[in-house]
Amino acid sequence: MPDLTPDEFRALGHLFVDAVADSRARIERHPVRDVVSPGTVRARFPREAAEGPTPLAGFPSLVESITGDADTRWQHPGFHAYFPANASLTSLLGELLSGAAGVQGMLWSTSPACTEVEQAITDQLARALGLPESFTHDGGGGGSIQDSASSAALVALTAALHRAAPDPESGWRARGATGRERVYVSPETHSSLAKAVRVAGLGAIGLRTVPCTPGTASMDPAALADAVRADTGEGLVPVLVCATVGTTSTGATDPVAEIVTVATRHGAWVHVDAAWAGVAALCPEHRWVLDGVAGVDSFCTDAHKWLLTAFDASLLWVRDAGALPAALSITPAYLRDPASDSGAVVDFRDWQIPLGRRFRALKLWAVLHGQGLTGLREHLRGHIALAEELARRIRGHDGLELAGEPVLSLVCLRVTGDRDGSATAALLGRVNADGRVFLSGTEIDGRQVIRVAFGAVGTTREHLDVLWEILAGGR
Ligand SMILES: *Cc1c(COP(=O)(O)O)cnc(C)c1O
Repeated sequence: MPDLTPDEFRALGHLFVDAVADSRARIERHPVRDVVSPGTVRARFPREAAEGPTPLAGFPSLVESITGDADTRWQHPGFHAYFPANASLTSLLGELLSGAAGVQGMLWSTSPACTEVEQAITDQLARALGLPESFTHDGGGGGSIQDSASSAALVALTAALHRAAPDPESGWRARGATGRERVYVSPETHSSLAKAVRVAGLGAIGLRTVPCTPGTASMDPAALADAVRADTGEGLVPVLVCATVGTTSTGATDPVAEIVTVATRHGAWVHVDAAWAGVAALCPEHRWVLDGVAGVDSFCTDAHKWLLTAFDASLLWVRDAGALPAALSITPAYLRDPASDSGAVVDFRDWQIPLGRRFRALKLWAVLHGQGLTGLREHLRGHIALAEELARRIRGHDGLELAGEPVLSLVCLRVTGDRDGSATAALLGRVNADGRVFLSGTEIDGRQVIRVAFGAVGTTREHLDVLWEILAGGR
């Protein structure tokens, strides 16, 4: 048989699980980032694939020998760069079941379980976050699990284009882009929105960058109103406005309610990109991240960043369950299905770009089951407390200053009085050279800033102390 028997799988599976457990247990023996030159890993491979089979029992150690000194360890508790990519062991257990099920949940009938678990879990999560009931499948909208926030933005834009088309019968599907469609973002909006505009074929002119309120990194709603008014005056079509809650660079938030007021006046779709920050709404004290969302069309947050769930699990909720299928559904004969025709089921293929889809809800379910909402809140609050403590220490340090107030678990800092950013850039280099921590940078008003984004699964107060020793010692 060209596969393992279940008994062989059982035996090997134990070995592989041991290897995973060992590598997590020993992760802090390694630097967060290995220093390698390009081509290092590829050079260790023979040119040709092996003709014959090799026993899999040795595979974990082979992988370790080929890749073990050439990695960036996102699960290392000293990883504070970018935003986290939690791959909790809890979610890996769910991943195993998901892979094992091996289903393809494109239609409800190709795996009723895959579809309905996803509906139930996204409904539960909507309620746990405090999203309005209108975003649930029970309430006429619904959630889906996308591969990434970038895909979620593209899907939302496609639905928005369809809704905005002048021909209500066939919508955007028949006519395509006319060159008049406009999408509004701020200079701080994630690049995935610009990419979505490109993929949707709207061209560079399709993207309008609305300035931020002076002195802030939040979209200026008055400037948005001016831009939209000017565009409609010229016969252009405002299609979508993206409001960000927790920008990638500095954690800034756009005024969602005011943006909704402007956008809805002109029939534009409002998409909230809360890829990183949105999950914080699980904690009642951080529910401000949902301010204004009652009026938006779609809301996205990544479970695969800070919510203990292994990539990929981006949550996208829409207020109108029909909006995505209206734009995306195409039914060739080979996909015709009585359950779909009955209208009584959701076919998630119509809520995303690809046809096929994994049973992603299982890993999220495992996390909810194994941690409970209490465990998730504890995880989030722990990192937020670390950010507050780091900010407190920076305020008391002569050589370092905050580049803004911390947002949730994100702290932006620079070297005190660093006019051109060079001292801050040098400090970032020294800190990362240590190996025990990894930070990334950004710019505010063109000046270098260091970002500390707490959020790795095992990061504790001790790791903050290590970071502080390196950071403060480097100054
Ligand atoms: C990380 C991030 C994204 C992109 O997330 P993916 O899920 O990797 O596509 C989009 N928007 C914001 C605000 C982000 O922080």
